[in-house]
Amino acid sequence: MNNLDNVNIINLDDVKLFVGGEWVASQSGESFIVKNPSTGEEIANVPKGGKSETALAIEAANDSLKEWSNYTAYERADYLLRLKELMIENQEELAIIMSSEMGKAYNESLGEVTYAASFLTWYAEEGKRIYGQTIPGSSNKKRLIVINQPVGVVAAITPWNFPLAMMTRKLGPALAAGCTSVVKPASQSPLSALAFAKLVELAGIPKGVVNIVAGATNEISNEIFSNPIVKKVSFTGSTEVGKKLVEKSADQLKKLSLELGGHAPFIIFEDANLKLAAEGALASKFRNAGQTCVCANRIYVHENVIEEFSEIFNNKVKKLKIGNSLDSEVDIGPLVSESGLDKVKEHVKDAVSKGAKVLTGAEELDGKGYFYKPTVLSKVTDEMLIMKEETFGPVAPLTTFKDTDEVIEKANSTEYGLAAYVYTNDINQSVKVYESLNFGVIGLNDAMPGVAQAPFGGMKHSGFGREGGKEGIEDFLETKYISVGLE
Ligand code: NAP
Repeated sequence: MNNLDNVNIINLDDVKLFVGGEWVASQSGESFIVKNPSTGEEIANVPKGGKSETALAIEAANDSLKEWSNYTAYERADYLLRLKELMIENQEELAIIMSSEMGKAYNESLGEVTYAASFLTWYAEEGKRIYGQTIPGSSNKKRLIVINQPVGVVAAITPWNFPLAMMTRKLGPALAAGCTSVVKPASQSPLSALAFAKLVELAGIPKGVVNIVAGATNEISNEIFSNPIVKKVSFTGSTEVGKKLVEKSADQLKKLSLELGGHAPFIIFEDANLKLAAEGALASKFRNAGQTCVCANRIYVHENVIEEFSEIFNNKVKKLKIGNSLDSEVDIGPLVSESGLDKVKEHVKDAVSKGAKVLTGAEELDGKGYFYKPTVLSKVTDEMLIMKEETFGPVAPLTTFKDTDEVIEKANSTEYGLAAYVYTNDINQSVKVYESLNFGVIGLNDAMPGVAQAPFGGMKHSGFGREGGKEGIEDFLETKYISVGLE
């Protein structure tokens, strides 16, 4: 089995924060513990950063802004590509750290490192295409010019479920645009971010361009939002916290982008290739033990194919191997925390009490760790909690529909609007459905739509702004218009 003893990127016995290119302890001397959710073991003590460490990090980012933004896009691209190479060279170590601190199955963690690195590659190139415009004037005595400039110092607040990818999806475009940064990683997964910081150092990226401060959540966030040097905050996390940050951003009118929660419908029409649909539903639902913002949370199957689909799908789910996330043979690791496990149990209990039938799973594993068996529920109805709230766990609820208008209405009847999936081979139906669904990302016969080169983000309570694609760099740029009067 993979082991933390093989990790050399950071010293887990002496973890430090990364501020102004230096490795620092917390000024208060306080620390917090990171535990392995597979075993309950303590794996590191991390300095608890707060207001003063955040203020220093913001100052360091500001001090390095002139130098970094004055580099050419080509020079910044070289740094980003070196950093990406270091991520790939250290892929196994990064995956071990990630699997240990937040419980992602090891092979998935390896995949996340590649995915995270892809944002550096793509934005290294996209930074070279930050074009301006010249606009024809209405007089010969005027020239109208538009330029784009980096917004300045930006802050990134990231979640535990994709500790590296959610960070590089922000830092890739921010650094490529010429911004400098302060990152606050989730308290469950600070080690991945700090290991990444070591690679930032090894890549020779100037001191202060990337700073990582973990610790006292409210103190760090209050400093980020009250410090006028920070010009933009990019947040990925829950809708509940996202709404609080909108309020906090009002005082200084900070630019804000929000990647929040989701409640994805997964629709399977009668004509769909059921084998592909079952493989897609499996990948979408059970990736990261069901703890993704885009995972299928409601599976709508046409009533004429429910029996056939349920059988194919259920057989696949039964074969998933659950266990210690560091084991390369494991498909499903633990949930990240006890409260995560409690929510899953509550959703299943509620569904079963209201008439859902358990096809497989619906049990915890004995022993240490927050393990819940991959579960399939049938006969799920709209009034069950699982059809309204993010479950964030390995539970697939199946329900049926009769016609296209009905399923579109049901799919849209949520406050969320992040991802939706549709399986059909009918082109007319496909177009009608993807044009009618109120979601920012649609997978049409595709359960894994997220890639660096395409815009990813939500509508409604799933947030605003887009990450990835050419849109992803726009949020890190100010547009300046210059009207030149001539003699
Ligand atoms: P979370 O509780 O909102 O935490 C996310 C980040 O915000 C963490 O760094 C957390 O720090 C910090 N935070 C918590 N309370 C805060 C506050 N009052 N002010 C400022 N920062 C605060 O979410 P999570 O449970 O880690 O992540 C799961 C959620 O993220 C799900 O809802 C999921 O759907 C969503 N998500 C969305 C996307 C997307 O692209 N749309 C991607 C991944 C995840 P601490 O850890 O220190 O509390």
